[in-house]
Amino acid sequence: MDDLDQLVSSLTPREENDEIKLYQNTVSVACPVCENPFDDLVVCKNEETSLEQIEPLDICVTVYEGSPLLFTHKHS
Ligand SMILES: [Zn+2]
Repeated sequence: MDDLDQLVSSLTPREENDEIKLYQNTVSVACPVCENPFDDLVVCKNEETSLEQIEPLDICVTVYEGSPLLFTHKHS
């Protein structure tokens, strides 16, 4: 992943708290891991965090400058 700022500039911010920032991918940006369009990007602000899943998701993970990035793909 080259540039997180460039990636998130295409996404819609949905939620932010102490642990995460959540962005929704409304324009079908390709996931940098699997190259399929993802649904949401979760940027973890800490090196360790726990996330609660509310629905079955496929998740691609990468790390950008020490922050885990989670790209979620809903089961279709
Ligand atoms: Zn992916």
